[in-house]
Amino acid sequence: MKTENKPELFAVDNVLIHDDMQYSQLKNAAIMMVDDEPIMLEIIQALLQDAGYSNFIPVERSSQSIRMVMQTNPDLLLLDLDMPEIHGYEVLSTIRSSTDYQHLPVIILTASTSPGDKLKALELGATDFLSKPVDASELVLRIRNTLFAKTYQDQLAYYDSLTGLPNMKLFVERLGWGIELSKRERVPLMVLEIGLDKFRQVNETLGMYTGDEVLKAIAERLSSLIRSCDFIGHTDETIKTGELARIGDHEFSIILSGVNSIEAAYLVSQRILNSVRQPVLIDEHEIFMTASIGISVCPTDGEDVESLIKHASSAKDFSRKQGSNNYQFFSSEMNAQSKERIKMESNLRKALDNNEFELHYQPKINSETHKLVGMECLLRWNHPEIGSVPPAAFITAAEELGLIVPIGEWVLQEACQATSEWVESGYENLKLSVNVSPKQFNEINLRKSIASAIRSSGLDPRNLVLEITESMLMGDVEHYITLLQHIVDLGVEFSLDDFGTGYSSLSYLKKFPIHELKIDRSFLTNVPEINEDNSIVKAIISMAHSLGLNLIAEGVESAEQLDFLRQHNCNVIQGFYYSKPLSKVDFTEFLTSYA
Ligand code: C2E
Ligand code: MG
Ligand code: MG
Repeated sequence: MKTENKPELFAVDNVLIHDDMQYSQLKNAAIMMVDDEPIMLEIIQALLQDAGYSNFIPVERSSQSIRMVMQTNPDLLLLDLDMPEIHGYEVLSTIRSSTDYQHLPVIILTASTSPGDKLKALELGATDFLSKPVDASELVLRIRNTLFAKTYQDQLAYYDSLTGLPNMKLFVERLGWGIELSKRERVPLMVLEIGLDKFRQVNETLGMYTGDEVLKAIAERLSSLIRSCDFIGHTDETIKTGELARIGDHEFSIILSGVNSIEAAYLVSQRILNSVRQPVLIDEHEIFMTASIGISVCPTDGEDVESLIKHASSAKDFSRKQGSNNYQFFSSEMNAQSKERIKMESNLRKALDNNEFELHYQPKINSETHKLVGMECLLRWNHPEIGSVPPAAFITAAEELGLIVPIGEWVLQEACQATSEWVESGYENLKLSVNVSPKQFNEINLRKSIASAIRSSGLDPRNLVLEITESMLMGDVEHYITLLQHIVDLGVEFSLDDFGTGYSSLSYLKKFPIHELKIDRSFLTNVPEINEDNSIVKAIISMAHSLGLNLIAEGVESAEQLDFLRQHNCNVIQGFYYSKPLSKVDFTEFLTSYA
């Protein structure tokens, strides 16, 4: 448990106390003890540790106790009375008079057995009173009960009883911490307000009971959406969390920290809208709901709780006016960007049907023999208005929209067909490299579509290499090894693209059925001028050789780079030095000069 604030402690599945899971969570409670005798602090700490409580905060000087409470935000305080600097009564009354800590459970632990002391402590608001020497089991029992009671209170104060979600009060607190963190660590933060459209009609026509059931069902959906790792599409290291709350009758809110791109907000909103749109089944009634979402961004739209909530809310109202089942940013600039994004999506969806994609082929040359060994196919989008769009501008969007799957299938078919024609015209050793997105592994039976491309084009699988990136090799390693092996069984090979830019451990390389490494262009930019880069490239080359892997250098632009690579036995070269990616017609011409 973090010491940040109390309600966090108890947000365990929103189930009230007395189950094992919650009990074990209580063991993480931060217990502070203020006592001027170090030996007492040590004894109690050891005792609590034996009972499983490990988060103990000893405070020897009572003059520091209030500051420590504010700093560490404990869940429970054990307080001695008779102390030299500030008396325990004074500490207790200061705590009780503060708005933030007036509900902090305080157990008095004192050598005094006088009923007068006991009464006074209770009058000042002590939660419980124990006399020293304290009986270990008695203390543990009291602590447990006090924490349980606090859980219950917090549950009532901070959670919505219908949905079990955090309520507005807790939401405001969490948003406050989120904003602080966002400012301190320069992590972006967004607030989404989600309003259910026409909810009143449900209540009026089907009754309150049904209305409540709808709210519960939607709350459950939103919670599981947030828990799902796919909530924010592509995984970005900085993306932290989404926190959901019910902040009004039919309003929910989500704090998204670590997210600032229009892309991410767009995706999240789409997922929420989709999820709300699924019919809710109650007593055999199918109820169809939609939502309107408003988004405010910290710091652009405000740097405090009030303005972020207010702006998200007015964006939501505006969104509803635009027609339900919609989302809007508070800032007009972001709305304009998001419109662009939506336009791009709808264009991208049509691009395949409109035959707007084209493949270019970039030669790979053996610098020793000056022979063409193969080519990488690279996707281009010929947009009717913009012209040629490079893949960097649309691959990620296509991945996020799930369009990469049909696009990837088209790429495979088209490239295998073209290569098969080149092979038949006499270039039988040509190796075609095709980039495969991790999404293609996850969402389709990639093996099937590779097999189908091979079959329909008549290409020998030995002429096909699939390029994957290191990010593919992370995650469920065993699963991916099996997947790759299944595909390798078809007779094709795998190449690891952009090698060196990811985080994969070298031991992975041995485990995965990979035949080739492509040294990323970024390592070659300063070769041979910068010594460190030379060393890295040399190290990659020798490692690839010792693992028995083929090696390609990509992005080679100069004769100096080429010389360096040849000197160090990296002979297969792809880069502008030999050729830019070429259209199918131009590549066919290129073939004759390098065959
Ligand atoms: P990549 O697979 O690493 O492809 C190499 C990129 O480096 C290509 O950019 C290529 O044009 C560029 N390049 C090659 N030699 C040089 C050079 O000497 N100098 C410079 N400055 N650049 C060079 P491109 O075509 O823009 O593709 C970018 C990325 O888009 C590719 O990187 C690949 O990750 C992705 N991509 C391209 N086509 C597909 C596809 O069909 N499917 C998928 N999933 N991704 C693709
Ligand atoms: Mg590639
Ligand atoms: Mg690459």
